[in-house]
Amino acid sequence: GIQARLNAISAIINYKPAGAPLNFSETKPTELYGCNVFSDKVMRERLPKNIYKSLKKTIEHGEKLDASIADAVANSMKDWAIERGATHFTHVFYPLTGMTAEKHDAFLVPDGKGSAIAEFSGKLLIQGEPDASSFPSGGLRTTFEARGYTAWDVTSPAFILENPNGVFLCIPTAFVSWTGEALDKKTPLLRSLQSLNTQSQRVLKLFGTNTKAPVTCYAGPEQEYFLIDRNFVFNRPDLLIAGRSLFGAPPAKGQEFEDQYFGVIPRRVLAFMMEVEHELFKLGIPVKTRHNEVAPGQFEIAPIYEQGNLATDHNQMVMTTLRTVAKRYGMVCLLHEKPFAGINGSGKHLNYSIGNNELGSLFDPGDTPHENAQFLVFCAAAIRAVHKFGALLRATVASASNDHRLGANEAPPAIMSVYLGEQLADVFDQIKKGDLKSSKKKDAMHVGVDTLPPLPMDAGDRNRTSPFAFTGNRFEFRAVGSSMSIAGSQVALNAMMSDSLEYIANELEAATGGDSSKLNAAVQAVIQKIMVDHDAIVFNGNGYSEEWHAEAETRGLPNLRTTPDALPVLTTPEVVELFGKYNILSKAELASRQEIYLEQYCKTIATEANLMVRMAKTVIYPAAMRYQGELAAACANNKAAGAACAASPVLKEVSDLLVVLTEKIAVLEKVLAHENGDTLGHATFFCEKALPAMSDVRAAADALETLVADDLWSLPCYQEMLFIR
Ligand code: ADP
Ligand code: MG
Repeated sequence: GIQARLNAISAIINYKPAGAPLNFSETKPTELYGCNVFSDKVMRERLPKNIYKSLKKTIEHGEKLDASIADAVANSMKDWAIERGATHFTHVFYPLTGMTAEKHDAFLVPDGKGSAIAEFSGKLLIQGEPDASSFPSGGLRTTFEARGYTAWDVTSPAFILENPNGVFLCIPTAFVSWTGEALDKKTPLLRSLQSLNTQSQRVLKLFGTNTKAPVTCYAGPEQEYFLIDRNFVFNRPDLLIAGRSLFGAPPAKGQEFEDQYFGVIPRRVLAFMMEVEHELFKLGIPVKTRHNEVAPGQFEIAPIYEQGNLATDHNQMVMTTLRTVAKRYGMVCLLHEKPFAGINGSGKHLNYSIGNNELGSLFDPGDTPHENAQFLVFCAAAIRAVHKFGALLRATVASASNDHRLGANEAPPAIMSVYLGEQLADVFDQIKKGDLKSSKKKDAMHVGVDTLPPLPMDAGDRNRTSPFAFTGNRFEFRAVGSSMSIAGSQVALNAMMSDSLEYIANELEAATGGDSSKLNAAVQAVIQKIMVDHDAIVFNGNGYSEEWHAEAETRGLPNLRTTPDALPVLTTPEVVELFGKYNILSKAELASRQEIYLEQYCKTIATEANLMVRMAKTVIYPAAMRYQGELAAACANNKAAGAACAASPVLKEVSDLLVVLTEKIAVLEKVLAHENGDTLGHATFFCEKALPAMSDVRAAADALETLVADDLWSLPCYQEMLFIR
């Protein structure tokens, strides 16, 4: 405690910017931006024209990659990278751990005459073969056939990473098993974009909206994180190993003053943020916003939204960059969803829309009645999607760490609902009643492609308590955890939207039979039907309130509070059917994911619980025991000397708490020794037994923290970790 605190304070007092300040006037951000990306511009300049054109077709129009061009692309990529000092290339992939993985290979190959040449063939670009056996497969393959392949994702550009000690070329890839099953987050995302395009195009065609580019999804992830001085982390095994504090009494001052949100950014933190942005600019990642968040020590970084697959890769890089740059500033970036109990946790708001660069967002009401009707159809599709598959959406954000955050009065509850805002909710209500003649805001409103009046852009107030809120031209999904990949939720959303759009296209095609004069009536009918069947999901009130929990139950909305409650949804018949019909994930792939995520849940809790026992026994118990000894000795001395202070109420409190602590540690150890059958059984047991046992150990320890002499308490406390920066 003492030493860590002193080190942290001296780190702040002696803080000097490392090296020269970043010079944005010599290298303009516009020049910096994307300078390490094998971008469209680079490709146009360096690739033979026909090869460039062929590649563009794949990138922009989703056409099949022509493998014969790979050698030329690889060669040009290699030259470009080597000019920039790269020695290695690496296939970057995104295994189901949620992390980013990379396998490096040198460009150099011996020429057989004692020298070496740089080589990078199309074959090496298109396909890599990392040993897949150390990545979770959830039973998809046995170790003796552990081969996995990484396959070049042409739609996410290659880039160069500069480390202080070297430069290497990175190639974003999908990671699949020997037999072609998805072992990663990217593969299903790419697959889900195909069905989203197919079904969106069907609906657009009915409206006579033509577009050459495929319809895709857009994602804008707002990323929250904590920064604390590194000195503290070295003295907190829990932060070091688990990424969150397993102990810690509440600080005297928390976030109740609400003086942190958008407050002045501390100097060291600002320097850190600028370097993060500097790095991300080079990678062509459009970071835009930086600010303090609600909790002390909490901040946010947000990029401008991008095509979903790209945004997902970029978010992985944002997380990596936050972590690595923090170290250079003597800090640690915590991406855990709940690093400090009683203090706001960190989430990732996933802003999601559907569209392309010709159409913009299809969740944008637009200015003309035609656009409005089309908008209402896509919006109704989202309402139906979340009502039908809310449990799936919930399952995509299930993890041991996010369980601490969801429903904790700072983040949306585990109940999925859709917030529309007052005006839009009113419009849909009118449609449901079959009478769109009047709206609260507009007097005469008629449904139909030709007649619907323009809807205003910002259709309502912000509601921060809703997990899925309409915000003018997109939906904001707020339940994603700060450390999670944003792929899973997009896969689910794309699949759910495909299903709704397919339903709508079927209905409209049947009702119009190719006669566009029947479209207005058909649109009205299908939206009306959707609202009759699915408007139970629409909720504009306070999602944090007790009443909503009760009301949601009467509406039949699932409330999957914990990860073991939520993950089994992945293999329910509805979900298997949904992912199966669009070839996004097979039943076996879904089962493997469920297994892996449950395993991760169990491993996380087991690690934390073991660490907790260790810390309780070797750090907290000894400190309290010593203090008890000191108090007892002092009391005895006082008694012998006839001093007034011969008995100490604190001595009794400490002694009693030590008894409780010892008991609770024993209970937790017993829980940990239990054998629990299959993974789901194990996870459920941990959820029901280990978590409460951990809380009990913590309660005793935290009570001791408020009693034991500060100089005997070696764990840095909440107030110093949160306020010294
Ligand atoms: P707020 O903090 O008020 O929610 P911000 O502007 O900070 O809003 O962040 C919103 C995020 O939503 C940004 O990443 C932004 O680029 C993104 N966004 C805006 N429009 C769209 C859209 N049509 N689709 C997806 N994301 C979007
Ligand atoms: Mg937001």
